[in-house]
Amino acid sequence: MSDQVWEGGCLCGAVRFRARGAPTNATLCHCQSCRRASGAPFVAWVSFPRAGFGLIRGEPARFRSSPPVERSFCARCGTPLTYAHDAEPESLDVVTVSLDRAGELAPRDHTWTSHALPWVRALDVLPRHPERRGKGG
Ligand SMILES: [Zn+2]
Ligand SMILES: [Zn+2]
Repeated sequence: MSDQVWEGGCLCGAVRFRARGAPTNATLCHCQSCRRASGAPFVAWVSFPRAGFGLIRGEPARFRSSPPVERSFCARCGTPLTYAHDAEPESLDVVTVSLDRAGELAPRDHTWTSHALPWVRALDVLPRHPERRGKGG
């Protein structure tokens, strides 16, 4: 499965990227940081091997949303793109809907539901985790 190739980019097209490898940990994150970084009530993420991720065009802006976390986004149009945690150097989280074939990457669960907005709860039929999901999901 490591020969999988996924491409994506931001809304304006200034940043394009390619991710190689099998996507894992498809989730909807409700944490406050993701909500504010995206301007959305929750964010769909999927993880790829960090070594298989590369830029095709442009260079995203980066900032630390907390000491161990670096997020990237398009500085021109604002699309959030990636999340990198220093404690997980092998893995890079990519905003699912920035991928061209996002429809193939259905979320498997919800994470950080302890931060979730009350009005999204009624939509939920997936397993729930009060904070992060354990390994292996
Ligand atoms: Zn852009
Ligand atoms: Zn989050």
